[in-house]
Amino acid sequence: MRERMIHDYDRVGRLAPSPTGALHLGNIRTFMIAWLQMRRCGGRMILRIEDLDHPKHKPGADSALQEDLRWLGFDWDAPVQWQSQRLGLYQAALQQLHASLYPCFCSRADIQRAQSAPHPGEILRYPGICRRRIIKDPGTRFSEKTAWRLALTEDDDGRFHDGFAGEMTHSAAELTGDFVIARGENIAYTLAVVVDDAEMGITDVVRGDDIFPATPSQIVLYQRLGLPIPRFFHVPLVTGPDGARLAKRHGDTRISTYRAAGIPPGRILSALARSCGWLRKDESVSTLAELIPRFSWETIPHEAFVWDDALL
Ligand code: GLU
Repeated sequence: MRERMIHDYDRVGRLAPSPTGALHLGNIRTFMIAWLQMRRCGGRMILRIEDLDHPKHKPGADSALQEDLRWLGFDWDAPVQWQSQRLGLYQAALQQLHASLYPCFCSRADIQRAQSAPHPGEILRYPGICRRRIIKDPGTRFSEKTAWRLALTEDDDGRFHDGFAGEMTHSAAELTGDFVIARGENIAYTLAVVVDDAEMGITDVVRGDDIFPATPSQIVLYQRLGLPIPRFFHVPLVTGPDGARLAKRHGDTRISTYRAAGIPPGRILSALARSCGWLRKDESVSTLAELIPRFSWETIPHEAFVWDDALL
């Protein structure tokens, strides 16, 4: 992957929450890293609400998450963007890729049955069962529910160097196989996020390492669409004491709950900053901005951060 020369002041980062529920400590730790990295280098920040996956949305979650972010001291430098208002851009990209798409009628169970060997990552690799249906006719109408997969070729690789996690050693063919970019008229996250990051001039994508295995597919899309590829930084998630990703059963770690309990933002930010090695155990801050000079990639542990409320 060719590295672009980018001046620090030209850098643009983003926070890209999905309004599927209230923001919790796990989201915030990743957002802190993304925001501080950009503020440290004098770059700009964008807030993009990823509201394409309607069935999972909670009403009001988009305004609640903005309130939580502001309460913690986050800000951004452009009007908030909503994916649901950008459908025309995604449709245009879909049309551009049309000749490489094929309809897929496989269920998850079909794909699981066809898996010959376990592969890295949690994502199910598609073994190309429906490939023979490849469609070259640009006039073909997409049906309401059909999944459309991008047929990978030998030129599609997708391996990349992650600014935090290191080398991604698996290609898109190994991780996802031909991947879904739309279901009927509904655009898949993988395509939308690529179109958005390119159109918004995002140079640095900082996000949770649960998405690490999906990134080669996104790199393939950047290349197929002729778009500049940003730098990626995938950071470890926050887990509960059992090692599983932070969830309701680990207790209530929603920002709104801490706020309602009268816990000041500085206490939450300080606990998370200690987990990133930016503050010593006996140090604390009151505001997010105080952490800007403390930001460093070097001190962030590569292992998941195990949360315990006693750390507050
Ligand atoms: N919206 C996604 C999420 O909340 C993040 C997507 C991304 O950062 O690329 O998990």
